[in-house]
Amino acid sequence: MKAPAADQQQLLVVQVHDSALQRIAAQKAGLPELAQRQTVVKAQQVAAEDLATAEATVGDVQRELTKLEDEVVKVEDRRRRDQQRLDEGHGQSRELVALQQEIEALNRRQRDLEDSQLEVMERLEEARATAAGLRAGLAELTQRHQELDQAIAAEEARLDAAAATEAEARAAAAEGLDAGLMTLYERLRGKLGGVGAAGLVQRRCEGCRMEVNPADLDAIRGSAEDDVVRCEECGRILVRGEDSGL
Ligand SMILES: [Zn+2]
Repeated sequence: MKAPAADQQQLLVVQVHDSALQRIAAQKAGLPELAQRQTVVKAQQVAAEDLATAEATVGDVQRELTKLEDEVVKVEDRRRRDQQRLDEGHGQSRELVALQQEIEALNRRQRDLEDSQLEVMERLEEARATAAGLRAGLAELTQRHQELDQAIAAEEARLDAAAATEAEARAAAAEGLDAGLMTLYERLRGKLGGVGAAGLVQRRCEGCRMEVNPADLDAIRGSAEDDVVRCEECGRILVRGEDSGL
């Protein structure tokens, strides 16, 4: 394959821009904020589940309390009716004694219920405090997520702008280059980690860093200026220059 020597030299400039574009893309994909956001998302999921559990507990304890309150009301009603009947003094004394005993039993029942109420109210307070703490934690995570979104957007915008500038320079550098050379370069770049062309510097391929062996060097010396030389080791286009050591 043949391509003008000047085009081969210019291809190294294109390669510099392509490598820069590759670095920018890698930077964009590897932003530390992306990993941080992943961590925050997981923490948000855990916190949301914990909060749902805590809120369910608040609901359960609240219902327990309501049930106790209803029961207290029933006991009070019953006692009031008993007291009324007792005050009216109708019926036989045996019945009145039974009423008196029932009122005492109802009083005891009410005290027990009130004790239970206090205990449940304490638990309700604790459950509410737990839920409030989790809610605050979740709000902090939401805030952190938003901050990371903003930081990521800013970084991406910065890198996109750098990539646009680089792409423009790349297009200008590649303009008018030998079509066959470009096709080969793109094909090699695609399969060799983004590097399709490398300089031959001091008998060394800058693509794979291997020193070219004497026999291959002889062959390169014997080739015409517009011959497209390839590295025998890595297969990349080997661009000769003043410092090739030939
Ligand atoms: Zn090589």
